[in-house]
Amino acid sequence: MTALTRLHQLARRHGTPLFVVDHARLRRNLAEFRKHLPRVQPYFAVKANSLPEIVRTLYRAGASFDVASIAEFRTVYENIQNLPPKKRQDFIWDKIIYANPIKDKHTLEELNQYKPLVTYDNVEEVRKIRRYAPAAGLILRLNVPNTGSVVELSSKFGAAPGDAVDLIDAAAAAGLTVEGLSFHVGSQCTNFQNFVQALALADGVMKEAWSRGHRQVRILDIGGGFPAAYDPHVRPFRDLARTLNTEFDRLFPPDMEILAEPGRFMVATACTLVAEVIGKADRNSKRCYYLNDGVYHTYSGIIFDHCKYPVKAFKKGPTQLCAVFGPTCDALDTISLAEPLPELEIGDLVYSPNIGAYSHASSTWFNGFPPAKVVHINC
Ligand SMILES: *Cc1c(COP(=O)(O)O)cnc(C)c1O
Repeated sequence: MTALTRLHQLARRHGTPLFVVDHARLRRNLAEFRKHLPRVQPYFAVKANSLPEIVRTLYRAGASFDVASIAEFRTVYENIQNLPPKKRQDFIWDKIIYANPIKDKHTLEELNQYKPLVTYDNVEEVRKIRRYAPAAGLILRLNVPNTGSVVELSSKFGAAPGDAVDLIDAAAAAGLTVEGLSFHVGSQCTNFQNFVQALALADGVMKEAWSRGHRQVRILDIGGGFPAAYDPHVRPFRDLARTLNTEFDRLFPPDMEILAEPGRFMVATACTLVAEVIGKADRNSKRCYYLNDGVYHTYSGIIFDHCKYPVKAFKKGPTQLCAVFGPTCDALDTISLAEPLPELEIGDLVYSPNIGAYSHASSTWFNGFPPAKVVHINC
């Protein structure tokens, strides 16, 4: 049976909209990451897709986790507690980084008991951490260029490199320990020079910190941004990995701990959405199809993630350019205004591959339509 036939059967059995998570693909993505970046421990960025089944599979396969809210922290903590822990006492440091530079005091109070590793990028945060989570280890987030990345993150977070070592001094003066540096080059980063420039900046800050006596700064967290292979034009991950490995070996001593926070790369290609045609009309000589999933649901990445997802038919036949809309009453709920599709009937199924990242995770209940049902395959 082909993969497409199987997908169609799953949707007929479970109903639509159906979000299909392929756990064999999750494991393959993690294995590819580790094979090409042997010096780097991947901390899966849970915000890309926080389904607990995904957390468990990646944990079993050896991943650690990047969380950015207390709810994500609990999702990871609860789901990996039930599994045989290799080294329970080292568990948090090895397995979780809290990578949101801004944390409210309640979050810090709850985290403190776990002696967490948390990021920061400003002096107010140092004061808060000293007060509410003095047991935390710190990672200083640096601001680095995001040029050419699909999703820009540098306007919101990151210390200017010129302020970085002063911020390490400030943390030390508050009795806290800065363990390392982090950055994020922007999501779906296809401009690999962003990583090269960020590594150069981090190297400069690290050496300056060492020269000011902060020898315990030994972790380099290179963040996320690793591009998912949405289409054949995306430069392959192994090319980026080759560049990174060369820079690691040139800049950083072998005992430096390097970690990364891949989100999209792990989950984007592991999930497929199947939706159903629930309406059909011709407007201004254009064929319009209405699906039972849209931008308030699994296609939310069209709005929040600047992502485009092709809509493909299971049916064969000559195609015409069609408009494809979601089920809600809002005109913003537009999936595509020019999608090549064959003649479809109400009740026919369509699918969108590579829709695992920033999709189901940001689904809403807008207009009373629930998020897509989830099924897991190849667990
Ligand atoms: C969102 C985010 C990630 C994941 O980014 P991807 O581009 O999906 O790999 C990693 N780290 C931090 C701090 C983030 O905010």
